[in-house]
Formats: sequence, structure tokens, C-alpha cells
Amino acid sequence: LQVQLHQAQKMESLGSLAGGVAHDMNNVLGAILGLASAHIEAQPAGSPTQKAFGTIIKAAERGGNMLKSLLSFARQNAAEMRELDLNTILREEVRLLERTTLSKVRLVMELAPDLRPILGDPGALTHAFMNLSVNAVDAMPENGVLTLRTRNLDPGWVEVQVEDTGVGMAKEILEKALDPFFTTKEIGKGTGLGLSIVYSTVKTHRGQMDLHSEPGKGTCVTMRFPACEAPARAAETTGAYRTMASR
Ligand code: ADP
Repeated sequence: LQVQLHQAQKMESLGSLAGGVAHDMNNVLGAILGLASAHIEAQPAGSPTQKAFGTIIKAAERGGNMLKSLLSFARQNAAEMRELDLNTILREEVRLLERTTLSKVRLVMELAPDLRPILGDPGALTHAFMNLSVNAVDAMPENGVLTLRTRNLDPGWVEVQVEDTGVGMAKEILEKALDPFFTTKEIGKGTGLGLSIVYSTVKTHRGQMDLHSEPGKGTCVTMRFPACEAPARAAETTGAYRTMASR
């Protein structure tokens, strides 16, 4: 409990710091992007200055993506909760990543057909599952298997697992993996915010999260969420989300 409390406090103060920094940095990046985009057009095609402007634009765009991660980390509290089906969220996540990240691995989906709905923020959950899938793929340099699994647990919990057959984590890495800004990836690739974002998303959903990893074998992230009382059959079959108001 002590560790969890400490983690929660660390997340909270880093969250507000990150939010402030991200906001200011966004203005700086906007100026850089705006100027570089205005000038690149005027350069002769293939010239060194055109290439240099291209590099500036790419770097600013990469910075923008890192800021998006920072902002979503900082905005965890503004969750919009509705009744939803986690299978639908996972399918949406796969749809978003299948042409890029997921094309590098074999994907196995073991989704419980009768999964109970939960109260959740669809955007935050999609983002969290995307972070986990990207980590899984990064950990599998050659043809690994990514398994996305859901099942009902009694009493009243729904479980999601994201499992990979990748490099796994040594104990020292596993202990720090949830810390904001902890990364073993090269500069520009990892922000170290992925798992922190997932952890705070799970917390805002009153859920539990567990990391299990074996070096050389792989990693399994298990998340458990409290289920809603009544099954949302309509939401399951149409893929639409039911709002609280319509219950
Ligand atoms: P990032 O992906 O930007 O590094 P994360 O917070 O998502 O940030 O992850 C922190 C670190 O935890 C990673 O750099 C990596 O060392 C380790 N990690 C996370 N997920 C996995 C995984 N599925 N397999 C192996 N290592 C992982």
C-alpha cells in the first residue's frame, strides 16, 4: 500500500508539472513548425536548405507526438466515463495499429464473447491498450506473438491481458517500469510515459494492474476492472457505447 501511495503522489505532482511544461512547449513547437513550413516551400527542390527545413519539421512533429503523450498523462483526471465493452475497445485499438505497429508480429485475440461491460473512458482505454501493444511489439525484434485476452472474473471483475513473447524485463527494470520518464529506449523513441499513463488510467477506472515478466520469455500485463451490474447486450452487438443517461 505504501508503494502504491508513493506512486500515486509521484504521478500526481509529475502530472501537473508535465501538463504545464507540455502546454508551453506546444507554443514553442508551434512557432518552429509554422516558420519552417512557411520557408520550406521557397527553397529549391533537393537543396541543402530544403533538406534542413525538412529535418526541422520532422523533429518538431516528433516533439509534438511526445507532447501529446505528456498531455494525456497530465489529463488523467478528466475522464469521461460511460458503459462500454472492452472487446470493442481492443478491436478499435487493433484497427488503429494493424497497418503499422502490429504488422510486425502475429496477433492472437482471445476475447470472451460474453464479456461484462465496464464503466470507462473509451479514449483513455484505447490509448492505454495502444501503449501496451507498442511496448510488446518493441520487445519482440523478430516474429513474436502478441496476445490480447479478455475474460469475466467472479465476483464482478473483468480482466484484460496484453501478453508478448519478447525480451522480458529483468527485476531492476520491472521495478522501475511504472515510473514516469523511465525508459530503456533510445532518445526520440521512448518517453518513459507509456506504462505510467496505463497505470494512471487503470487507477482512474478503479482497477488493478499487475506486470509479470521473465527475461528471455516475455511479458504479460494484467488489468482488472470492476464490471457494471447489467450486461450491455446492445453495446456488444452494435459496437456503440451506451451512455449512463440512457440506462
Ligand atoms: P517507453 O516505452 O517510452 O520506454 P514505458 O513506460 O511504456 O516507456 O516503458 C518503460 C520501460 O519498461 C521500457 O523502456 C522497457 O524497458 C520496459 N518495458 C515496458 N513494456 C515492456 C515489454 N512488454 N517488454 C519488455 N520491456 C518492457
